[in-house]
Amino acid sequence: MDLSIVVPVYNEEENIQYLYDQLTNVLEPLGLEYEVLCADDGSSDHSFELLQELARRDHRIKVIRFRRNYGQTAGFSAGFDHATGDIVITIDADLQNDPASIPALLDKMAEGYDVVSGWRTDRKDALVSRKLPSRIANWLITQTTGVHVHDRGCSLRAHRLEIVRDMRLYGEMHRFIPDIAAWLGARWTEVPVNHRPRRFGKSKYGIGRTFRVLLDLITIRYLQGYMTRPIRIFGKWGVVLGGAGVLLGLWLTAQKLFMGQSLGNRPALVLAVLLMVMGLQLISIGLLGEMVMRTYYETQGLKTYRVREVVDFSRGTPDAG
Ligand code: UDP
Ligand code: MG
Repeated sequence: MDLSIVVPVYNEEENIQYLYDQLTNVLEPLGLEYEVLCADDGSSDHSFELLQELARRDHRIKVIRFRRNYGQTAGFSAGFDHATGDIVITIDADLQNDPASIPALLDKMAEGYDVVSGWRTDRKDALVSRKLPSRIANWLITQTTGVHVHDRGCSLRAHRLEIVRDMRLYGEMHRFIPDIAAWLGARWTEVPVNHRPRRFGKSKYGIGRTFRVLLDLITIRYLQGYMTRPIRIFGKWGVVLGGAGVLLGLWLTAQKLFMGQSLGNRPALVLAVLLMVMGLQLISIGLLGEMVMRTYYETQGLKTYRVREVVDFSRGTPDAG
């Protein structure tokens, strides 16, 4: 299988036939072996029945039906888990992403990139309620992760299967796929893609999403920097704060013992105790983090590193067979 297209679908009944036609028109001429994996995210309209009918007529269409609504990220995850194509392309079902941009993504992938992210250079959404918050959030994320992506909200992306296969996505984290990929050592780039206004159905999101994304950013930043060594960040601040508390406490004790000052009315005493307690707690959290991290990796047999390739000529060079 060359190509898997992953489509999250939630109440998109008016769009499905158009999406199918547009995808087919773009994909068939490419002469690739492809499949379209639709994740029906607990739709309450006729989306599932329509998808099922398409799947019956065209066996390249596959439908994964969720028991309830889990959100767009879960749709992508399900697609990644079921994908068999060497390249996995994600695209929204609402026709805002243009399937005609897919060949441009594939051209970039052919240059050797692991992830190619779409960039909606001319985004057709409301300015104040959608584009502005999205730009600010995007800027903040770039500052935090150091990965210079212009448009994290664009679902149209191409990925090599091995990059997304064991990517675990929670919350709104599909937006951070380029950041996570960069952090896994993947080569990534962006290409401008076409964007269209939504013609049928409603957007499933409001301004609340921006805040959820920003909370996820805290998680991402932590995972990116300290996933495998939590004691380094918690322990460091534990030692700094606790150490300051101990020094302050010693100084106060000295004042009491040698200068006969009473400590009962000294706010510094409260501060010293507070700092010591905070220090101990942070160090404990760091140690707990170390244990959780080991459980996470070792119970799943995960590696803390990613291998791009192994060179070993002892088994004979590849072309010598
Ligand atoms: N979607 C989904 N589950 C949800 C919300 C959205 O699968 O809970 C799908 C939706 O059907 C669409 C895509 O995710 O294909 C993007 O949703 P939407 O167009 O509402 O987002 P926007 O373009 O407004 O950011
Ligand atoms: Mg949309």
